[in-house]
Amino acid sequence: MFNLVIFGSPGAGKGTQSDKIIEKYHLQHLSTGDMFRAHIAQNTKLGQEVVSIMNSGQLVPDDITIKMLEEEILKHKDAKGFILDGFPRTIPQAKALDAFFEEKGEKVNLVIQLDVSEDEVKHRINERAKTSGRADDAQDKLIKRIDEYFQKTIHVLPYYKDHNKLEVINGIGEIDAIFENISKVIDNHFK
Ligand code: ADP
Repeated sequence: MFNLVIFGSPGAGKGTQSDKIIEKYHLQHLSTGDMFRAHIAQNTKLGQEVVSIMNSGQLVPDDITIKMLEEEILKHKDAKGFILDGFPRTIPQAKALDAFFEEKGEKVNLVIQLDVSEDEVKHRINERAKTSGRADDAQDKLIKRIDEYFQKTIHVLPYYKDHNKLEVINGIGEIDAIFENISKVIDNHFK
């Protein structure tokens, strides 16, 4: 199995690059944000529990998030690997993921950080808002999620650096050029 964590701020281009990675390497995409949104759309018990937290741009508690992700991993018995997008966002989540994979004789093989500064992502979303006419409310929530990333989530990176799993890719530039750099890093680990 090859398990990849893609890491980056909202607006860093994670979604765009994840799509390209999935197409090329056929990894199973696991986005905890998508999972929560699906629960909310289907109005499940979990969806009801998390809707107000998500709408405020805060993180959902670790126990809920970890359980949901582990259950999802178990559904894909035939996957040749996973791309984790939006998880882990905290050290307890990172440790829980390691323990979960270890039990199965698997591991996180590689963590790619799509590196874009806070100023640049805020600039990007302000530009996007101008062209899309996005509601101010949505804009405020996005800013809150970016703040959450730079204040909290980013502290997960040293954990992976210490385990020699972190590769930092410059997220500023042409989409295809960024993807080429990502591919090189994956090819070095994916053998
Ligand atoms: P983005 O990266 O654009 O902020 P996501 O789709 O990854 O968006 O996440 C949306 C929201 O879902 C987060 O703001 C948070 O409330 C919740 N969420 C997603 N993943 C996690 C996680 N690993 N831990 C806690 N909350 C999460």
